[in-house]
Amino acid sequence: MSDEPSPRAAKGARRRAKPADPPLPEAGGPVPPAPSVVPAGSASAGTGSVLATPAGTYDPWAAVLERIDDAAALAGLDPDVHGVLRLPDRVFEVAVPVRMDDGHVEVFLGWRIHHNTARGPAKGGIRFHPKLQAAEVAALAADMTLKTAVVDIPFGGAKGGVRCDPRLLSAGELERLTRRYTFQIAPLLGPDRDIPAPDVNTDERVMAWLLDTLDMLQGRSLPEVVTGKPLSVGGMRLHTGATASGVVRCVRAVFSALDMPVAGARAVVQGFGKVGGPLGFLLSSAGMRVVAVCDVGGAVFNPGGLDLSLLAEHVSSVGSVAGFEGGEEIPSADLWAVEAELAVPAALEGAIDESSARRMGARVVVEAANGPTTPEADRVLAERGITVVPDILANAGGVTASYFEWAQSRQGYAWDEELVAARLARTMDDAFTDIWARARDLGVTMRRAAGVVAVERLAGAITARGLFP
Ligand code: NAD
Repeated sequence: MSDEPSPRAAKGARRRAKPADPPLPEAGGPVPPAPSVVPAGSASAGTGSVLATPAGTYDPWAAVLERIDDAAALAGLDPDVHGVLRLPDRVFEVAVPVRMDDGHVEVFLGWRIHHNTARGPAKGGIRFHPKLQAAEVAALAADMTLKTAVVDIPFGGAKGGVRCDPRLLSAGELERLTRRYTFQIAPLLGPDRDIPAPDVNTDERVMAWLLDTLDMLQGRSLPEVVTGKPLSVGGMRLHTGATASGVVRCVRAVFSALDMPVAGARAVVQGFGKVGGPLGFLLSSAGMRVVAVCDVGGAVFNPGGLDLSLLAEHVSSVGSVAGFEGGEEIPSADLWAVEAELAVPAALEGAIDESSARRMGARVVVEAANGPTTPEADRVLAERGITVVPDILANAGGVTASYFEWAQSRQGYAWDEELVAARLARTMDDAFTDIWARARDLGVTMRRAAGVVAVERLAGAITARGLFP
């Protein structure tokens, strides 16, 4: 599956084949069986499975399994519970035919994957990316299972997305792609079943199309079926920026635990999107100097601190930090070597590999992105005494805000901003304190301690439910 040719390469062949439409999904009907199921008990899902990754490339599913296995061993987890966590509950792969502006039809590949729903309905973002693979979606879904357990909110883990390059799509093509993808995965979605949210290359506009498609299919208003939606259709103030706020909460907590001053500390940030953009501003309002920022187009460095307002203006006019005159351009590969107190990956997974970990110039890494550090890099950072606040804790502000938005949509009552901000801060602080204390008790890294806390909470739910049938 991962060797699928790109939709554009296969255009001629695909234009003739008109895919048969599936039956309309039934509102509230039973969840259909998954079309693809991975072999039970396999370590890395094996070749032939949708979760297999081509040899020699970063394998996100193997990386997440390694972390689950480690947490299971440290926690002394019941092997039956461990086995349940080693495979996703359901892998749903869909074709997404889209009428392009020039009249031809392109068929994109999409997924929605539920990793585990023992603690509540599946929750996770939707990603549009040209290199998206089932293994990556499954790994991100497993991360969501662990993350919702770490912040102790009543959700399971899911992720979804479409392999496409949104930069090559017109607004009309993007809307048609979103609506058709939503239709294809609709049998899995629902307020008490699976609640999507934005992720890489998706935003509140995409969430509004998703919501509208589901409302049209079901003939009723369902604001609680999606989070990260615009305010005008029942979204929540403070949702935008909640992930970045949670990251900053963790930065303050870890600096205080390590007795490092926040004011005047230098930070480098990879990614200047929905998370990295607001994060830069929040770090600088906390008194830090953001000395280097990188995105898909390049990296800029200014030892005196970048002017983030000017940088944001530059990015909104040219689409990248590259070419910003308020700093010198450096190779993106050198970003992690920049000397700083804090490094924040806020782009894609696998961004810090073994060699960048060896060159890491920061004392503390706080993971705003999901899965940014490879297991090999993790070992190197630990050996070098660099403290890492792991993704499943550091970026959990986003899903926590989504939980608040879902609760308000279900209540039909909007909380005020102070209540949202206070509850978000308390959830993040409590989770940080738990994980920090567990890491000290066990004498392990925060990542390993977070894994232990998560699998113990999951084991509680899985054991209490028992096995169906
Ligand atoms: P986004 O699409 O808004 O921004 C992604 C940023 O990463 C862009 O600036 C892009 O240029 C940059 N980028 C992409 N490829 C890159 C590369 N190869 N090198 C350097 N930079 C690159 O996405 P986002 O919502 O900000 O998500 C960023 C990360 O945070 C992802 O890992 C996502 O899963 C995670 N996350 C997001 C949220 C959320 O609320 N949006 C919540 C939790 C975790």
